[in-house]
Amino acid sequence: MATTLSRIKLIEESPADSVNEPMPLDHALKWVSKYDDQVDPRVRVFFAQSAYLKCIEHTESDMVNEVGGVLIGQVRVDPLCPRPYILIQDILPALYTDSSQTHVTFTQNTLVHLNHELEEHYPGKRIVGWYHTHPRLGVFLSSHDTWLHRNFFTDPTHVALVVDPYYRHAGIFCWQPGNRFDPTHYVGFFELSDVDEDSIVELDNLTPVIEETPTPCGDALLEKGVSR
Ligand SMILES: [Zn+2]
Repeated sequence: MATTLSRIKLIEESPADSVNEPMPLDHALKWVSKYDDQVDPRVRVFFAQSAYLKCIEHTESDMVNEVGGVLIGQVRVDPLCPRPYILIQDILPALYTDSSQTHVTFTQNTLVHLNHELEEHYPGKRIVGWYHTHPRLGVFLSSHDTWLHRNFFTDPTHVALVVDPYYRHAGIFCWQPGNRFDPTHYVGFFELSDVDEDSIVELDNLTPVIEETPTPCGDALLEKGVSR
């Protein structure tokens, strides 16, 4: 009886239902943007190839209008790292009925609906961010996008992925310490090999980094954070 009670208590105290697991660096390829060393993201982002392929299929489905949806996965904590990381494991396209819509938006109702879908079909997973496209416009967040992120994706682990399917550009915008959210400087991600040992990412604005012995936290900056 006592064991059961303490177990329940432990679950309740677990911060934001994160999963304890080392970063899967052995099965990941790091992609960086030209801004990576200027951004101090609150989370590292691991993007499973299976989810990436679904995302690209959706983002390339319309080369004129913007499309978007939410990123689904887990928030995880590597025991050796001070900051959590997210693993994007799936996507859920948001459906828009208004064809005159020029930009992607989420309402409270959209998010309630998506959360319901999540509970029904993706047990144990949660919304870790959102994605949308900017066909021929490039990777940035408009003032509306920024407003949306600041109002609906307030958890420090929430990210915003922007894809330009025409130019094959993509980037991820993250919360930074001090509630900073930069709408122009984006980072890359770790491509997690769950489909193919070789990379399946075809992006012209990100560069793969081959590290012989990856550091536990994925980069030196975070390691410095540990020793401080
Ligand atoms: Zn936008």
